[in-house]
Amino acid sequence: MRQPFDTVSDVVAWRLCLGCGACVSVCPEKALALVDVEGDGLRPTRDAARCARCGTCLAVCPGAAIDGPPAHALALDSLRQAWGNVLEVWEGYATDPEIRYLGSSGGIATALSLFALEKQGSPGVLHIGSKPGHPLDNSPFVSRNRDELLVRTGSRYAPAAPCSGLGTIDRDGEASVFVGKPCDVVALRKCQALGDGQGRSIRLAISIFCAGTPSTQGTRTILAQLGVSPEEVTEFRYRGCGWPGRTVARTSSRSDAECSMSYEQSWGDILSKHTQFRCRLCPDSTGELADISCGDPWYRKAEPDDTGRSLVLVRTETGRQALHEAMKAGYVTLEKVSADTLPMSQASLLRRRAHLWGRLAALRVLGAAVPAYRGFSLFATWRALPATEKMRSLLGTARRTVQRKWYRREREGRQ
Ligand SMILES: Cc1cc2nc3c(=O)[nH]c(=O)nc-3n(C[C@H](O)[C@H](O)[C@H](O)COP(=O)(O)OP(=O)(O)OC[C@H]3O[C@@H](n4cnc5c(N)ncnc54)[C@H](O)[C@@H]3O)c2cc1C
Repeated sequence: MRQPFDTVSDVVAWRLCLGCGACVSVCPEKALALVDVEGDGLRPTRDAARCARCGTCLAVCPGAAIDGPPAHALALDSLRQAWGNVLEVWEGYATDPEIRYLGSSGGIATALSLFALEKQGSPGVLHIGSKPGHPLDNSPFVSRNRDELLVRTGSRYAPAAPCSGLGTIDRDGEASVFVGKPCDVVALRKCQALGDGQGRSIRLAISIFCAGTPSTQGTRTILAQLGVSPEEVTEFRYRGCGWPGRTVARTSSRSDAECSMSYEQSWGDILSKHTQFRCRLCPDSTGELADISCGDPWYRKAEPDDTGRSLVLVRTETGRQALHEAMKAGYVTLEKVSADTLPMSQASLLRRRAHLWGRLAALRVLGAAVPAYRGFSLFATWRALPATEKMRSLLGTARRTVQRKWYRREREGRQ
């Protein structure tokens, strides 16, 4: 079925935007800008007078369509259907204790970035971090040394658009690194495939696992529960400083202990309830188009004072080479683990993917626009669910679609 999209404004109107920022980077007319819609996420606004309706924005949009990677001959058979190409599964941490401590899980994304900068001649790492002077907002940055990487460690469970910085890194020349969520990496790959240069300098793409991006309202709800006003905040960390670490709103007048809550409270009770609609329709939570993906080894129980470990997936030959060289150079300390460590660690992501075909079918039948996915075996995983679970994904989504009117576009005024 043809999707009803002429520009990314239509993707936004159908609630399918992921807020990656790629459209803003590639628009030849510079007709797009990102705004933070507080209850949704970062969304492109379009200057209709400038827009030539050339379709470039749609060509790079992961919200509209995603093609999974072609099967890799050396990918592990047991993981292929549910997780894409996984060549190797490792678990470990950044050997540098400060990176490990500050990192979200084990600091692997940061340690691999540092290795690329210090030993592989990479000029920069494009990733996101908290915006100076606006600690609740995120911006894309090109980090060029350890200090710059260190202040941008850790997960930011809030809207973040690393692809809006592609133009910045491409001025740097070759062999740069990109770190982002799975949808950011899809957008990067689409930009690279366009052939007009955006993202051409990225040699290594690292993805973090992702269960969904919470809106800014999620962070504001945490602050309200902590009794901290947004204006008081000088620094905001969602986790890190141990595994999984606490969520801390730093202010100039009160102690961190007074203004913090556990990761279980912040993600489990608050942020996970504020994730974008489109994230619930995501077929790729673990970065199938990246060279390397990192997530949490949740099969472990966090110990008091746990310093953290990451689960690491090698997805391409480029990723394998980077990881093995970083290990040899002592930047990361890793041990190979069995393939089933991945499903044991990420049961909720597996469950979401298993239900996805049913959800999409219910939305489609009721007239909603849905993303086009190719290469994800979604029907096969849905078919394997017990009958009651199958009914749940179909009927539960149908009920919510009617109640929340997902079968129609949102107001034009939003775009
Ligand atoms: C919204 C969100 C949902 C997540 N869901 C899961 C999950 O379901 N399961 C799981 O195992 N892990 C999840 N993670 C990832 C996990 O929290 C860790 O980021 C991951 O384990 C990597 O840890 P690390 O210590 O290697 O990374 P670090 O060394 O701490 O580096 C983190 C890197 O991620 C980048 N980054 C942080 N936040 C964002 C963002 N919002 N968008 C783009 N880039 C960002 C930083 O710039 C930094 O380069 C999620 C992260 C986010 C931001």
